[in-house]
Amino acid sequence: MSDSDCLFCKFASGEIKADVIFETDNVLAFRDINPQAPTHALVIPKRHVSTINDLTESDTDTVGQLFLAAREVARQEGTDDAGYRTVMNCNAAAGQTVFHIHLHVLGGRKLSWPPG
Ligand code: AMP
Ligand code: ZN
Repeated sequence: MSDSDCLFCKFASGEIKADVIFETDNVLAFRDINPQAPTHALVIPKRHVSTINDLTESDTDTVGQLFLAAREVARQEGTDDAGYRTVMNCNAAAGQTVFHIHLHVLGGRKLSWPPG
Protein backbone atom coordinates (compact mmCIF):
# COMPACT_ATOMS: atom_id res chain seq x y z
CA MET A 1 0.00 0.00 0.00
CA SER A 2 1.27 3.50 -0.72
CA ASP A 3 -0.17 6.91 -0.06
CA SER A 4 -0.08 9.15 -3.14
CA ASP A 5 0.50 12.24 -0.99
CA CYS A 6 3.25 10.71 1.12
CA LEU A 7 6.81 11.99 0.54
CA PHE A 8 8.42 8.89 2.00
CA CYS A 9 6.33 6.61 -0.26
CA LYS A 10 7.74 8.62 -3.16
CA PHE A 11 11.28 7.99 -1.85
CA ALA A 12 10.42 4.30 -1.49
CA SER A 13 9.15 4.00 -5.06
CA GLY A 14 11.99 6.09 -6.49
CA GLU A 15 9.58 8.71 -7.83
CA ILE A 16 11.59 11.26 -5.82
CA LYS A 17 15.32 10.63 -5.32
CA ALA A 18 16.46 10.30 -1.72
CA ASP A 19 20.12 10.33 -0.65
CA VAL A 20 20.09 6.55 -0.22
CA ILE A 21 22.56 4.76 2.06
CA PHE A 22 21.10 1.25 2.05
CA GLU A 23 18.17 -0.52 0.43
CA THR A 24 16.51 -3.93 0.43
CA ASP A 25 13.24 -5.17 -1.10
CA ASN A 26 11.34 -4.01 1.98
CA VAL A 27 13.24 -1.11 3.55
CA LEU A 28 15.09 2.04 2.52
CA ALA A 29 17.68 4.06 4.47
CA PHE A 30 18.47 7.62 3.41
CA ARG A 31 20.05 10.78 4.83
CA ASP A 32 17.88 13.18 6.80
CA ILE A 33 17.59 16.57 5.06
CA ASN A 34 18.12 18.39 8.39
CA PRO A 35 20.76 16.29 10.14
CA GLN A 36 20.99 16.53 13.94
CA ALA A 37 24.29 14.63 14.10
CA PRO A 38 27.16 13.82 11.70
CA THR A 39 25.26 10.63 10.87
CA HIS A 40 21.51 11.11 10.69
CA ALA A 41 19.66 8.60 8.56
CA LEU A 42 16.03 7.60 8.36
CA VAL A 43 15.08 3.97 7.80
CA ILE A 44 11.59 3.35 6.43
CA PRO A 45 9.52 0.38 5.39
CA LYS A 46 8.66 0.67 1.70
CA ARG A 47 5.07 -0.14 2.63
CA HIS A 48 3.16 2.87 3.93
CA VAL A 49 2.44 2.73 7.67
CA SER A 50 1.47 6.08 9.22
CA THR A 51 2.48 5.62 12.85
CA ILE A 52 3.63 2.91 15.25
CA ASN A 53 -0.03 2.69 16.30
CA ASP A 54 -0.90 1.43 12.82
CA LEU A 55 1.52 -1.51 12.86
CA THR A 56 -0.03 -4.97 12.77
CA GLU A 57 1.24 -8.50 13.37
CA SER A 58 1.96 -8.74 9.64
CA ASP A 59 4.62 -6.01 10.02
CA THR A 60 6.65 -7.97 12.58
CA ASP A 61 9.30 -9.04 10.08
CA THR A 62 9.54 -5.59 8.52
CA VAL A 63 10.10 -3.93 11.89
CA GLY A 64 12.99 -6.32 12.48
CA GLN A 65 14.37 -5.37 9.07
CA LEU A 66 14.30 -1.67 10.06
CA PHE A 67 16.75 -2.45 12.86
CA LEU A 68 18.96 -4.63 10.68
CA ALA A 69 19.12 -1.72 8.21
CA ALA A 70 19.95 0.68 11.07
CA ARG A 71 22.80 -1.64 12.05
CA GLU A 72 24.03 -1.62 8.46
CA VAL A 73 23.86 2.20 8.27
CA ALA A 74 25.87 2.49 11.51
CA ARG A 75 28.44 0.03 10.18
CA GLN A 76 28.79 1.86 6.85
CA GLU A 77 29.08 5.21 8.61
CA GLY A 78 31.69 3.85 11.02
CA THR A 79 29.70 4.71 14.14
CA ASP A 80 28.75 1.17 15.16
CA ASP A 81 31.47 0.69 17.77
CA ALA A 82 31.45 4.21 19.21
CA GLY A 83 27.66 4.16 19.49
CA TYR A 84 24.53 5.51 17.92
CA ARG A 85 20.85 5.98 18.72
CA THR A 86 17.69 4.75 17.04
CA VAL A 87 14.47 6.69 17.64
CA MET A 88 10.98 6.38 16.24
CA ASN A 89 8.59 9.17 17.20
CA CYS A 90 4.87 8.46 17.39
CA ASN A 91 2.34 11.25 16.91
CA ALA A 92 2.41 14.92 17.85
CA ALA A 93 3.60 14.91 21.46
CA ALA A 94 6.70 12.95 20.46
CA GLY A 95 7.38 15.30 17.55
CA GLN A 96 6.37 13.11 14.62
CA THR A 97 6.06 15.36 11.57
CA VAL A 98 6.15 12.84 8.70
CA PHE A 99 3.39 10.27 8.91
CA HIS A 100 5.17 7.33 7.31
CA ILE A 101 7.07 5.55 10.07
CA HIS A 102 10.81 6.08 10.09
CA LEU A 103 13.57 4.98 12.40
CA HIS A 104 16.07 7.78 13.01
CA VAL A 105 19.69 6.60 13.18
CA LEU A 106 21.87 9.23 14.89
CA GLY A 107 25.60 8.93 15.46
CA GLY A 108 29.01 10.44 15.01
CA ARG A 109 28.90 12.56 18.16
CA LYS A 110 28.19 12.17 21.89
CA LEU A 111 24.42 12.14 22.33
CA SER A 112 22.84 13.44 25.52
CA TRP A 113 20.12 11.71 27.52
CA PRO A 114 17.26 12.15 28.17
CA PRO A 115 16.22 13.69 24.82
CA GLY A 116 14.23 16.92 24.97
P1 AMP B 1 9.90 13.12 12.69
O1 AMP B 1 9.88 14.51 13.28
O2 AMP B 1 10.30 12.04 13.66
O3 AMP B 1 8.60 12.80 11.97
O4 AMP B 1 11.05 13.12 11.62
C1 AMP B 1 10.87 13.57 10.32
C2 AMP B 1 12.25 13.75 9.74
O5 AMP B 1 12.14 13.79 8.34
C3 AMP B 1 12.95 15.03 10.18
O6 AMP B 1 14.17 14.70 10.83
C4 AMP B 1 13.15 15.78 8.88
O7 AMP B 1 14.35 16.50 8.84
C5 AMP B 1 13.12 14.66 7.87
N1 AMP B 1 12.73 15.06 6.53
C6 AMP B 1 11.68 15.85 6.16
N2 AMP B 1 11.66 16.02 4.82
C7 AMP B 1 12.73 15.32 4.33
C8 AMP B 1 13.26 15.13 3.03
N3 AMP B 1 12.71 15.69 1.94
N4 AMP B 1 14.37 14.36 2.90
C9 AMP B 1 14.96 13.81 3.99
N5 AMP B 1 14.51 13.96 5.24
C10 AMP B 1 13.41 14.71 5.41
ZN1 ZN C 1 4.09 6.65 2.89
